[in-house]
Amino acid sequence: MLTQLEVATKSRAQLIDISERIEQAVQEAKIGEGVLYLFVPHTTAGILINENYDPSVAQDILDFLEKLAPRQGKYKHTEGNADSHIKTAVVGSSAIVPIQKGKLALGTWQGIFLCEFDGPRQRKVFLQLMDEGR
Ligand code: ZN
Repeated sequence: MLTQLEVATKSRAQLIDISERIEQAVQEAKIGEGVLYLFVPHTTAGILINENYDPSVAQDILDFLEKLAPRQGKYKHTEGNADSHIKTAVVGSSAIVPIQKGKLALGTWQGIFLCEFDGPRQRKVFLQLMDEGR
C-alpha cells in the first residue's frame, strides 16, 4: 500500500519531526507486523531518523551540515542551492522502519525527520507499507 504525506516547510533549512503523522498513517493502514519504507522524492530535501526528544540534537545536525557544505561556498552548480543538494546526499532520501503490533518500532528517543535544505516549500514523503500477514 502506497500513501503520501504533504509537508509544508517553514524555513530554508529545517528538520521537521513527522513521526506522529507517520504513526497515524501506519495505524490507519491497520498493519500488524510489517515494514514501512519511506522515500522523499526531492533533490534538496531528505529524511533521517535520530533523537527527537532534545531539539538541540536536530539543531546540532543542521549546524554540522552547514559547516560541511556552507550555503556560500564555491560550487559548480549555479542555481544557488548546491549546498542543499550536498546536504540531501549526506542524509539520504529513504528510511526503513519495522512495524510491530501495529506501531512503528522506533527506539524511545528516535523520531523521523523530514530534512528541508532549500525551503520553504511544499514537500512530499511517500510511505510504502508492507504487511507481513498478507
Ligand atoms: Zn539545484
